[in-house]
Amino acid sequence: MTAPAATDVDVLIVGGGPAGLAAATELARRGRDVTVVDRLDGLDDTTMLFTPRAVAAARRLGIDLLEFFHPIDRVRLTTSVADPAHPGGAVGPSTSSAWPRVRVAPEGGCVGTRASFVAHLRALAEVLDVTLLDGYDAVEPIVDRGFVRGACVRSPDGATAEVRATFTIVADGGNSNFGRLLGTYRQPDWPIAVAHAADYRSPLHLAAEAEIVVGVTDRAGTPIAGYGWMYPTGADTVGVGVMLMSTSASFAVINPAHLLDRVVEQHASRWQLDPEPATTPAGGRIPLGSSVGPLAGPTYVIIGDAGAAANPLTGLGIDTALETGIMAGDVVGEALDAESAAVLQQYPKLVDDRYGAYYKFGRLTERALGQPSFSRRLHHALGSRPSFAEGALRVGLQHLRAGRGGVPELIYRSARAAGVFVPDA
Ligand SMILES: Cc1cc2nc3c(=O)[nH]c(=O)nc-3n(C[C@H](O)[C@H](O)[C@H](O)COP(=O)(O)OP(=O)(O)OC[C@H]3O[C@@H](n4cnc5c(N)ncnc54)[C@H](O)[C@@H]3O)c2cc1C
Repeated sequence: MTAPAATDVDVLIVGGGPAGLAAATELARRGRDVTVVDRLDGLDDTTMLFTPRAVAAARRLGIDLLEFFHPIDRVRLTTSVADPAHPGGAVGPSTSSAWPRVRVAPEGGCVGTRASFVAHLRALAEVLDVTLLDGYDAVEPIVDRGFVRGACVRSPDGATAEVRATFTIVADGGNSNFGRLLGTYRQPDWPIAVAHAADYRSPLHLAAEAEIVVGVTDRAGTPIAGYGWMYPTGADTVGVGVMLMSTSASFAVINPAHLLDRVVEQHASRWQLDPEPATTPAGGRIPLGSSVGPLAGPTYVIIGDAGAAANPLTGLGIDTALETGIMAGDVVGEALDAESAAVLQQYPKLVDDRYGAYYKFGRLTERALGQPSFSRRLHHALGSRPSFAEGALRVGLQHLRAGRGGVPELIYRSARAAGVFVPDA
């Protein structure tokens, strides 16, 4: 769609990924006039795991992911163990668990591509009359007497235009140039992740079990904080990837593409993977655990990866992109209804209520996982004790039961309480 030289809307959303489109859908349902600009440089072909929380958030928006994507019923946690005969490590003990069920995410997960998910979100947004400006780059904010009032955008043919808006939602992903222009800042010593992935043809593509490999090592055989994964797609291929956390001492010198090659090599025969990838390997960085802020200004809010909404324990961020998009849509909608920008200041508080304590626990745990002696012990327990693996999955997915819960909840609450004594971690 062509943008006129200047438009006036209720809300401009910078970035039409999962977070931006979730917010757009919520606002359009409230009858608001919403424009989404996206320069379309997302990680489109990447195969992703949609956790039960992502499935629940998509359902709330009106999309049944389990109908469209390959269903995943179980998660296998496999350990990688040191073996002089295999420089990348050998396959060690392994446990398989069903998704831990919880009221807010009662169904299973699934595997699909980001492109296909975004296509479903865009179709929904179009039905709701959201204006999608494809190929448009939000170049800089329009600042009027100190208040952000939309953005200057550049069209695919290089023409510039102004999209003026009462409120602006920043959803431009992990690099978030637009967020930085508004003064957001990432805590430099808090964890970030780098992910790298590709699809490989395999006759096992119909498996209903995703596999997570912990204990992946660097070239010296030292365990790295992070994991490898195998996600069957149901469409001839298995998505293979690595998630590297910055808390490992060797983070800066590890080449994610080489690590991916090693994980593929290690698991190729078990998963019957073709030696050559079926898609071009691609990756990116994912800021984690609320490490970016502030999440709101007088007339704007920051959502999804732009606000480091991804889980610091897993690096997964589709569920939190949708959840923060929905929260922001509600808050901005209320601010418009009340004709009061002050309402926007509720958004950072809502984010903190939902993720704050858990994310602090996650950041501290991720630091501990950067210590090889701690991670070796943990990985051994994960691979050999099914109840431990199931508990870890419950904690890692933030599938904690309300009330007293069980052992995982007790461990989480104790660790969280201890974290109170560690400021700014
Ligand atoms: C290799 C890899 C694999 C991953 N696998 C998983 C997984 O299996 N499961 C999971 O839950 N998460 C996964 N993630 C994380 C997940 O992709 C992100 O957390 C999620 O996409 C965040 O959504 P978002 O909408 O905040 O940002 P994004 O998905 O990054 O979307 C941002 C959008 O903003 C647009 N944009 C950026 N700047 C501008 C601008 N100036 N003007 C206009 N448009 C702009 C981009 O084109 C993009 O479409 C993975 C990440 C990577 C890198």
